[in-house]
Formats: sequence, C-alpha cells, structure tokens
Amino acid sequence: MLTVNAIAAVSATEPLVRTTVERRDLGPHDVLIEIAYAGICHSDIHTVRGEWGKVPYPLTVGHEIVGHVTEVGAEVTKHAAGDRVGVGCMVNSCRECDNCTAGQEQYCLNGNTGTYAAVDRDGTVTQGGYSTHVVVDQDFVLRVPTSIPLEAAAPLLCAGITTYSPLAHWNAGPGKNVAVVGMGGLGHMGVKIAVALGAEVTVLSQTLSKKADGEAFGAQHYYATSDPATFTTLKNSFDLIINTVSAPIDMSAYLGLLRLDGTFVSVGAPPEPLPVQVFSLFNNRRSFAGSSIGGIAETQEMLDFCAERGIAPEVEVIDAGAVNEAYERVLKSDVRYRFVIDIDTLR
Ligand code: NAP
Ligand code: ZN
Ligand code: ZN
Repeated sequence: MLTVNAIAAVSATEPLVRTTVERRDLGPHDVLIEIAYAGICHSDIHTVRGEWGKVPYPLTVGHEIVGHVTEVGAEVTKHAAGDRVGVGCMVNSCRECDNCTAGQEQYCLNGNTGTYAAVDRDGTVTQGGYSTHVVVDQDFVLRVPTSIPLEAAAPLLCAGITTYSPLAHWNAGPGKNVAVVGMGGLGHMGVKIAVALGAEVTVLSQTLSKKADGEAFGAQHYYATSDPATFTTLKNSFDLIINTVSAPIDMSAYLGLLRLDGTFVSVGAPPEPLPVQVFSLFNNRRSFAGSSIGGIAETQEMLDFCAERGIAPEVEVIDAGAVNEAYERVLKSDVRYRFVIDIDTLR
C-alpha cells in the first residue's frame, strides 16, 4: 500500500480538505503514475455535493488525470517508466460483455469501474486524481502525445472525449450544421473539435459575454439563449445539437432548433430530469439522445486527433489550495475554460 497526499470531500456541504488516500500495491498489470495535473470537471462537483446520489465520503474526485509513469508491474507491456500518460473517467470494466468486446467499455453491461466512488476489484472504493499518485491497470491508461502540453492535456481525458465521441458518432463534419449548448469545459472543447471535423458550428450560450472566444475557437455563429429571438431565428436549423449544460433546460425550445432527422444529444448531466414533449420530436422526425464519455480506443484516437490538429483545451492552472474557490467559479459559469490543479502543490 502506498499512502499519498490528496484532496477529499468529507460531506456534501463542507469544503474539500487535504488528506491522504491509499493506493494498492502494484499488480502485474498495473501502472504507477505520478500525477502532474488534474482537471476539475463539473461531474466532480455534482458528485461531491451529493446531487447524483449517495457518496462514499471521504471521497477524492478527479477524472482528468495526466502525469508520468514511475513504475510498472511485471507483465506490463503497454507503458514504461517515464511515459507521459493519462487516465480518464474509468479504470476498469468486465472486458467480456458485448459492449466491452466492441470497444465501448464506457457502456460495460456489468458496469465500468469509475475512476472515483466505484468499488474496485479489491473491494475498496476508487479514489480519483486530486492526489499525487494513482495505480491503474495498463489497459485503462492512455498515451499523451508530446505535442500537447501536459496541463492542457488533462481536460481531454473527460471534456475532450465526452464531446469527441458524440460528434464522431453523429458524423459532425463538412455540410453539417452543429450547435454546442453551454460554453464551459465540455462546451469549448465541443466547439474546437466540431470545427476541426469541418462542421459549421454555432454556440448557444446564456449571454454573448464569451462571443469573441467562441469565434477564436472557430465557431461561425454565436447566439444568446437569454434572448427569445434566438429560438425563432434558429428554428429548424441544426443536424446535431450537443448539450453540455449542467442544469435543466427547456427541451421543447431546443428540440425546435433541429432540422429534418436532426439529433439533440445531451452530455450535460443535470440531477433533475429533462422532460420531453413527444410532439417536439414528431416535427422533423427528431431524435433525443445521450452519450457517456468514450471507449479507451476512441479516447486514444481523440488524443492523437487533437495532437495532429493542434487542438488543446484552454486551462487555468491553480494550486491545490484554490480548489474550493474554483468550484464556486465553475458554478457561476465563471471558468475560462477548465480549471486544472497543479499537483506539485499537493506534494
Ligand atoms: P461547466 O464547465 O460548468 O460548463 C457548463 C456550461 O453550461 C456553463 O459554462 C454554462 O455555459 C452553461 N450553464 C450552466 N448553468 C446553466 C443554466 N442554469 N442554464 C443554461 N446554461 C447553463 O461544466 P462541464 O464540466 O463542462 O460539464 C457540463 C455537464 O456535463 C455537467 O452536467 C457534467 O456533469 C456533464 N458531464 C457529462 C459527461 C458524460 O459522459 N456525459 C462527462 C463529463 C461531464 P454558458 O456560460 O456558455 O451559458
Ligand atoms: Zn468529467
Ligand atoms: Zn463489460
């Protein structure tokens, strides 16, 4: 067992505190990673505040993890000491079910093992990346291309793959009109990736305060959802809408923006339901879908795609001591566009 420094939530209402967590001894297929940076995803906040259900406190969250391999188990072949690597939202799956064998481990029919708050194979509760080290099975460790600065690579492990996967699945590309709702951590990556895939991209943000940034990320159009005229101007416009909003939205209004056979995909995961009036789907034969992160092979594909295309998240690097303040800023949509913890400040 390795005892390592970490930041943990102790209850739904108290600030996160410094503590330690235990990492298991290195098994034959395990990799020990010295973490350099960990991104702050809104899912971390939903989780620690108990918005998605019961929480095994004390809990260390964080599933946008990058660092270097320091040690490998006897049978590890995929990674070596010194490698730049990343870990995303899952650290294991059954590997046998139809979805795992199809490379869709995120949809493991026996439940994938989340990077935090899940029961690990040794019966302990998994603890996430706001910590100095982590031990992970080699098959769930990604290679981080050298051209992506390590701090900017961290958010790709969740925000990057969560937007890349539905954009790729629903064929965002030339000739497709794509809207991204909400320009936070996921949203700004959705914009950059959809632009790189060749789609015509529209940002739907609450206000126009980030319009210049959206355009700098390559979006051709930018509208404020606080202006009711947006929903009449853009009626029947989009082939694909990627919703990244962490709170409930008026589904009828957004579904009305889809053109014939258009699809609205929610990756945003508000604790409350998103009620749909079926008549909003009848018009234009619209679809309402959801999407969860991405498989391991697809996550590697996304990292390589971002490296090749020179795409990286916009990050604000913070000290470990600033996490609670960062959470408050995320909740106020005051994030440009992902907070990333410098884990050296936790050693
Ligand atoms: P984030 O950085 O807080 O971004 C969310 C954005 O939504 C905000 O920046 C804001 O954009 C907009 N927004 C926030 N509150 C709103 C409201 N009340 N009404 C309308 N718009 C609002 O969060 P994130 O880290 O990108 O995560 C977004 C959501 O995706 C969270 O629910 C998270 O749990 C979920 N998620 C899901 C997956 C998955 O696998 N499906 C993976 C990761 C995260 P504007 O300021 O531009 O309006
Ligand atoms: Zn996440
Ligand atoms: Zn499985």
